[in-house]
Amino acid sequence: MKSLQLSLKCILLPFLNDVLEIFKAYKPYIEIVEDASDIFFIETYENSSSYGYKLIFKTYNDIFNLKKSTDILDDKRKFKKKLKTTIYNILKNETKIELPYGSLTGVRPTIVAKRASDLNNINFYLTTEYGVSSHRAKLLEEIIINQKNIYELNQKNICLYINIPFCPSRCSYCSFLSNEISKVRQFIDIYVDILEKQIDEFLEIYVKNKLILKSIYIGGGTPSCIDLNLIEKIISKISGFNCEFTFEAGRAETIKTELLDLLEKNNVNRISINPQTFSKETLLKINRNTSIEQIYEAFNLAKKYNFSINSDLIIGLNYERENEIFNSIKELVKISPDNITIHSLSIKKGSTIANKGQEKAIIGLGDFMIDCYNYLKLNNYFPYYLYRQKNTLDNLENIGFSKKGKECIYNVLNMEDICSIYAIGAGAISKFVNLENNSIERKSYPKDIKQFLKLFDKI
Ligand code: SF4
Repeated sequence: MKSLQLSLKCILLPFLNDVLEIFKAYKPYIEIVEDASDIFFIETYENSSSYGYKLIFKTYNDIFNLKKSTDILDDKRKFKKKLKTTIYNILKNETKIELPYGSLTGVRPTIVAKRASDLNNINFYLTTEYGVSSHRAKLLEEIIINQKNIYELNQKNICLYINIPFCPSRCSYCSFLSNEISKVRQFIDIYVDILEKQIDEFLEIYVKNKLILKSIYIGGGTPSCIDLNLIEKIISKISGFNCEFTFEAGRAETIKTELLDLLEKNNVNRISINPQTFSKETLLKINRNTSIEQIYEAFNLAKKYNFSINSDLIIGLNYERENEIFNSIKELVKISPDNITIHSLSIKKGSTIANKGQEKAIIGLGDFMIDCYNYLKLNNYFPYYLYRQKNTLDNLENIGFSKKGKECIYNVLNMEDICSIYAIGAGAISKFVNLENNSIERKSYPKDIKQFLKLFDKI
């Protein structure tokens, strides 16, 4: 594949990031170099009465001006949409490549889709206003309809997220600040002590404000890789709630009878077992020290309990193509967990594979993934939440499928930004949502484990 080379000359005061996002989405189809013969010129401005831009590229020459109204947020949104969609259309014409989400570059396309005047209009709204492909627009429409009866809005609703950032080994694609457990063993007891205190603080706030706990989510990392007595210390403090309670036991090799007994005893009702792939070769290449046998054993064991089970797959690992991907999906369908979540590989700084030429890994899989989603639907798995990440190859999506009635409430409330998330532990980010004015405040803890312990004077 030959990429289109161009130089980018920007006179950009506002909206620089928005412009760059569109060009990044076109990587590797477009390469920005300093001395290309074709120059893409963009100028944007904002003054007290209007927003505007000027675009020149080859034969394109466009000037746009939007007069400001009293609704500042809406004006900004309209202007951004016009600017990004215009650039998108130019790049699409030049490359003959349509991106699955058109000019939509944000991580939560369902939130944008809900701005359509009514639910029956979503498909039309997304395809005409943002250039979203008809497949993806239909998918978003379906997800919004499937979400309708899963939650109700209430300012008192809250979710508790607890981060346990330790793993048996570090997967090569991982960009989380997850620590290989053998390297930080000396800190784990203290870390759990801090979590216990943080849980107490949460419980005080919960009681004082008469909140409604919708979901508890213990994630990471691989929470199931720490000692059972430490897991018990954490979960026994919050086992008295009658709500969704997820414990990520992502790595199959960490799943043992004793762990599952403990989780069941403490009212955990949802777990994750994440194969990511059913290719032995890929598991080795990504430094995920789990065997295929261990994956099947973990499912066999977990199925003896009443947990709702989620399973993650990642598309694009180790250059996997259609055969391997479809084989993994088929294997999972045979195992029949309650949820299947399909992630598209996103290469981020901090991962071992960053910048190692993985760009070509999943190019051209957009339509094939729609076939896979249809296969899942045929097998009674329905899409119910979707989000995107930066630097996702092929600009695809992460999408959660569920058997009817088995949807994970936490995922929906979190991804749709409609419920506050009280998050504790290293790297955890709390999100306080104000439903009245649609605003969100965030509070985060240091990602680095030592920095986190320092914050609590424990190091
Ligand atoms: S198990 Fe998950 S969190 Fe841990 S290293 Fe692998 S990808 Fe990262």
